[in-house]
Amino acid sequence: MAQHLVFVGLGFGGLYTLRQLLGSLPDDSHITAIDARERFVFTPLLYEYLVGELEPDVVAPPFETLLPDDRVDLVQAEVVDLDVRARWVQLDDGRVIDFDTLVVAPGSVAAFHGVPGVQEHAIPFYTFDDAERLQTTLRVKRWAEGDQPVCVVGGGVVGIELAFALAEFLGRREAGGAHPRIVVLEAMGQILRGFSESMRRMTRRKLDEQGIEVRTSIRVLEVDGEGVVFENGGRQRFDVAAVAWTAGIQPNPLLSRFPAERHGRHGIRVERTLQLPGYPYVFVLGDAISYPGRAVGAPLPDTAQAAFQQSEVAAKNILTWIENGLPREAYTYGHLGDFLRISRTEAVADIRSVVLDGAAASIARRAAYLFRLPDWAIRTSAIRQWLR
Ligand SMILES: Cc1cc2nc3c(=O)[nH]c(=O)nc-3n(C[C@H](O)[C@H](O)[C@H](O)COP(=O)(O)OP(=O)(O)OC[C@H]3O[C@@H](n4cnc5c(N)ncnc54)[C@H](O)[C@@H]3O)c2cc1C
Repeated sequence: MAQHLVFVGLGFGGLYTLRQLLGSLPDDSHITAIDARERFVFTPLLYEYLVGELEPDVVAPPFETLLPDDRVDLVQAEVVDLDVRARWVQLDDGRVIDFDTLVVAPGSVAAFHGVPGVQEHAIPFYTFDDAERLQTTLRVKRWAEGDQPVCVVGGGVVGIELAFALAEFLGRREAGGAHPRIVVLEAMGQILRGFSESMRRMTRRKLDEQGIEVRTSIRVLEVDGEGVVFENGGRQRFDVAAVAWTAGIQPNPLLSRFPAERHGRHGIRVERTLQLPGYPYVFVLGDAISYPGRAVGAPLPDTAQAAFQQSEVAAKNILTWIENGLPREAYTYGHLGDFLRISRTEAVADIRSVVLDGAAASIARRAAYLFRLPDWAIRTSAIRQWLR
């Protein structure tokens, strides 16, 4: 029977599922692929785009080049509502699209935790547009030096990688005389929670070597046009040239439209086959899900690594669902490792408890990401750009 599949969100979960499915779907299938943006973003390489090491064709290729299939109707729009019982999704332009099978992977959104002024004055680092905005701001404020630091709020992996990238972007090591200051503010007692102790130690050493300041147990109370107000025994403030905001993510608001169990700040519960309980024709993956097949337990990490793994299971199960209504593959998360970029030539890596740093870690990181880029044309471009 002819099938209409609708994909909402074309990131690591949605796009990779769709690309794997395309070769196997029955010829009479029709696909509507919806994303609010025009580009896929390979977020682990967004720092390389910021510092000018990789170009947009690698880090953020347009969807139209990634989905050149007559059966795919690509729609750039935001899905604002959906009804899984009645089988429709509604777009921000009012259009309503019906589906037989729905695949939802809308990712997360930046969390501002209600801190006044963040949305107006800080720049999140989540999307390609954010990276461009940060680049532009820093170019304009290239004078950011001395007592006017560039501040990164959030000492998780994104905040720390961004701090290293900012040091590179602002030419910290080349600049003679006054150097731009980069300060990371972290609310918890330590940075890089969830990373191994040895990886954290190595990263701290690299931060010290580069003169990047890290202040822990600092709660940001407010951001304004000139600075950051924070709590440190009392209310204090300091002037900054720019504030980058990486202090967490939260589930995509679209998840509130699902008749599904939610888990705190995490996503919704799905079956191990990635189907929505009670709605076997709805598949959900990526950051949008929490504990496949379980009501409680450690939530899945919100990572591209997890979404990428789920896309393989989702593609197989969608196909068997369409063919015979019996998805068989159960998803289990397997942690492959952690990487943290320091510079063009250096990284820190923890691959199955083997911790590396320097050039070896940088090569391992590039290799891991290279094979996860969407296709060979993009991989070839990445190699060329890395070698120039
Ligand atoms: C700077 C940065 C670096 C990262 N580095 C790493 C890393 O090194 N390793 C790692 O494993 N993970 C990393 N992550 C996390 C990783 O990016 C996410 O976990 C991953 O992208 C989640 O995949 P997803 O498919 O759920 O969502 P996404 O990849 O975010 O895709 C969601 C898509 O849905 C679209 N969308 C959202 N809402 C709607 C809507 N209502 N209507 C239509 N479209 C919508 C969005 O435009 C987007 O294209 C990083 C994240 C960031 C921000």
